[in-house]
Amino acid sequence: MKKIITLICAVLISISAPVFAKSVKIGMVIDDLRLERWQKDRDIFVNTAEKLGAKIYVQSANGNEQTQISQIENMISRGVDVLVIIPTNGEVLSNVIKEAKRDGIKVLAYDRLINNADIDFYLSFDNEKVGEMQAKALIAAKPTGRYFLMGGAPTDNNAKLFRQGQMNILQSKIDSGDIEVVGDQWVDSWLAENALKIMENALTANDNNIDVVVASNDSTAGGAIQALDAQGLAGKVIISGQDADLAAVRRIVDGTQTMTVYKPIVALAQRAAEIAVVLGNDDTPRVNSKLNNGMKDVDAWLLEPIAVDANNLKKTVIADGFHAEKDVYQ
Ligand code: BGC
Repeated sequence: MKKIITLICAVLISISAPVFAKSVKIGMVIDDLRLERWQKDRDIFVNTAEKLGAKIYVQSANGNEQTQISQIENMISRGVDVLVIIPTNGEVLSNVIKEAKRDGIKVLAYDRLINNADIDFYLSFDNEKVGEMQAKALIAAKPTGRYFLMGGAPTDNNAKLFRQGQMNILQSKIDSGDIEVVGDQWVDSWLAENALKIMENALTANDNNIDVVVASNDSTAGGAIQALDAQGLAGKVIISGQDADLAAVRRIVDGTQTMTVYKPIVALAQRAAEIAVVLGNDDTPRVNSKLNNGMKDVDAWLLEPIAVDANNLKKTVIADGFHAEKDVYQ
């Protein structure tokens, strides 16, 4: 009888006791909160992770790689369980990540890969596909002509993947002579003001004779379009983008930007929060891809980007609630 009572008690306790995941401490270090895109990522990430019971510290390096390294060191001394890093320069974090790993901290590379470092997970979009979507849309709008290539931040691994994707589509047309590349520049820190200067110089060097600008994201497209506008060329020159920033989708409606690539940030940031909590509990997140970062094949999860122009803006960006219709069509 005593045995039976003990057994019943044990069963009751195991049914009623909730499985408490440990409350995970997460340090999120962001390249640059000056850009609209990363503010969205932060808000959704923090919100979701807090709902999952985590405590989150956030810092922005404002585009400075040394600042970012100090911020990571600071997170290590705070004793975080997981580091979620949007790297400013994915090439310079090997040592600081070694320090983190010595303390048993898990590392999630968020949106941008970190090279030559022992990271635990990489979560992003299919970035080569982003570049392919940009180039396809540009070719559809202007199959032949004078193309100016405007890459992103040279320190961002994604910028290289976007370019790889663009070239997958453009190279055969360049080889056949349909497309002439009239310039190729990379925009430091992805800043609009740097893109503006590059575009002004490119227009001067080419006597304003440019048909297409292969811009890798919306902030750089914005700077380039400002330079085009000053020459009365906004809306005449075909130009790509990425991120579906509010200013960019408005430009698409106005006809000064040809397309953008919408990457559902809500899905990315929510998934990142889940992965961070899973890692913090020493579990293994689900994987749908692997990418080599120079040190190892990193477990990864890649989401699908969506090409957006004036025709599908409502069905995508607006239908998803990414921007409100009243804000887009003013
Ligand atoms: C991101 C883009 C973003 C760019 C500038 C890239 O790594 O993938 O979405 O526009 O950084 O912040």
